[in-house]
Amino acid sequence: MNEQRVLIVGAGPAGLAAAGALAHLGIKSLILERDSVGSSWRGRYDRLRLNSSRWTSKLPHSRYKRGTPLFPTREQLVQYLEEYVAQHELDVRPQISVERIDPDGDSWRLETPSAGSFRAPQVIVAAGFEHTPVIPDWPGRELYRGRLLHAADYRNAESFRGADVLVVGPGCSGMEIAYDLVEGGAMRVRLAARTPPGIVLRAQGGLPTDPIAIALLRVPPRIADAPMRIVSLSASGAPENSRSGLSLWVLSQTTCPVSASVAMIRPS
Ligand SMILES: Cc1cc2nc3c(=O)[nH]c(=O)nc-3n(C[C@H](O)[C@H](O)[C@H](O)COP(=O)(O)OP(=O)(O)OC[C@H]3O[C@@H](n4cnc5c(N)ncnc54)[C@H](O)[C@@H]3O)c2cc1C
Repeated sequence: MNEQRVLIVGAGPAGLAAAGALAHLGIKSLILERDSVGSSWRGRYDRLRLNSSRWTSKLPHSRYKRGTPLFPTREQLVQYLEEYVAQHELDVRPQISVERIDPDGDSWRLETPSAGSFRAPQVIVAAGFEHTPVIPDWPGRELYRGRLLHAADYRNAESFRGADVLVVGPGCSGMEIAYDLVEGGAMRVRLAARTPPGIVLRAQGGLPTDPIAIALLRVPPRIADAPMRIVSLSASGAPENSRSGLSLWVLSQTTCPVSASVAMIRPS
């Protein structure tokens, strides 16, 4: 039995941030990771960049290295996470999947198929919430003879050259993948949206909008929403959305607005 003071499940940004913050207080922890550091990010599509800026996407007690763009690429984020592990001397055990967590006296007992049992009085579960792809069970889905792919399995437009593609869902991934397909030579790309998307520009005047948006969420909507308008796609043929500002959108919807670059939403 491996006894620890703190066990952390998952070496994504949340697990590493928790371990880094604990290390700063002089508390050692052990991170059990079923794959590798930042594995959720390693497997995503090629052109992916953070849509939140590096200013708001850093882990405790650490910055991105000099020269990192405002919106780091997927590879830059993975590198940043690996450097974070080294800088804070975090103990990450890759290829160990936690299958069970049970109470064990005053502690918790974690079972893993590859490395046996671990025990600690404190366990932080940072196993992520966006790692399991789901395709809705649409009626007639089994009759569709074309290629049906979840965004998690999309890498680049290479194999879609000349294809007629429908992208379902105008969230951050859907919009960016649609744009990637257009740039990559798909013959026709359409984006299906159940309701008109609410879009906020990722940057304005060369500055990221997310730190401003975060600060303005504490301000009454009538003041906050003046600089943070939701962008309309009606010029591209989409139905008009409420065109409210960011605060009213966040208060009235269950989803966050989509963060997009100007290039992605300009009318063709
Ligand atoms: C396409 C896309 C773009 C995104 N862009 C942004 C962005 O720009 N900015 C932003 O803030 N967020 C973004 N997100 C959300 C992003 O995924 C999260 O912010 C971030 O990765 C969450 O970190 P996490 O550590 O909670 O989870 P993850 O990054 O998913 O890490 C969880 C880790 O736990 C491991 N794990 C899971 N189960 C077990 C187990 N049983 N045993 C051991 N290990 C386990 C996994 O292998 C993984 O490494 C994006 C998400 C997607 C899908």
